[in-house]
Amino acid sequence: MRVFLAAFLSFDTLCSMLNQLLIAFGFSAIIVALAYWRGSLSGSGAAGALLVGTLTFGLGGWQWGVVLGVFFVSSSLLSHYKEAEKRTAAEKFDKGHRRDMGQVFANGGLGTIIAVLSAVVPTTAVATQTWFYLFVGVMGTVTADTWATELGTLSKSPPRLITNGKPVDVGTSGGVSPLGTLVSFLGGLLIGLTAGLLTDYNLLLTALAGALGGLVGSLFDSLLGATVQQIYYCDSCEKDTERKVHKCGTTTRPLRGWSWLNNDVVNLLASVVGGVTATLILLSTSVAFAVLIL
Ligand SMILES: [Zn+2]
Repeated sequence: MRVFLAAFLSFDTLCSMLNQLLIAFGFSAIIVALAYWRGSLSGSGAAGALLVGTLTFGLGGWQWGVVLGVFFVSSSLLSHYKEAEKRTAAEKFDKGHRRDMGQVFANGGLGTIIAVLSAVVPTTAVATQTWFYLFVGVMGTVTADTWATELGTLSKSPPRLITNGKPVDVGTSGGVSPLGTLVSFLGGLLIGLTAGLLTDYNLLLTALAGALGGLVGSLFDSLLGATVQQIYYCDSCEKDTERKVHKCGTTTRPLRGWSWLNNDVVNLLASVVGGVTATLILLSTSVAFAVLIL
């Protein structure tokens, strides 16, 4: 690994990278400890979040760390918001609000990989701005999804299936509501605005990358949820669910969808779509700019 890194980076760069990783570890440890104490993370979730925080902040830069922090803190706060009202809807979701390592990696894993790549791939091959927009789109999507899950379930009107518009129960995979969609957009917008305000990149463009990346990514998430995501059925409650074991304790049986495509994989694929959307927004404006000059 050292030889591999040394091929790209000088000794000084490695030292400052190590320094930044240590600082990142310190900040991440404080936030993760608070989240664990508040009951937002399980033990394995805390370990995963420490790794995600250290690498994202340490290798991407402090702006990346703040963007990750905005996702994490806003999502944790929202998961405690109106808890009692959400409990029935929450039964349909795969896990409780104490996030484990699988959920942490499903939300933060891809962003972490992008941060690592941005540090080791030469900037002559891929510009730092491209990696950052990819990251903004990914974080926009996970924020949009989490916000929509936490707040969309409070919608007064029943959600409708994204594929055929049929009304479905609150919390059903693939169900969308005007409130949930608006919340998705706002979640991505917050990430885009944060990213734009912290960097020298165009504020409007960066905000748009976060908002549209998040919206497109979370709509793709709903589309998978309505079609090919693995959905289970609880025979005792006569309800469909994303959980292998229902909240009532009954082992559920597969109802529809592909067996490998569980909720975590769906989140990951949606993040890829959100990240690509954000990057395309950046590329399309570069192309438009080039055309204007010519
Ligand atoms: Zn049940």
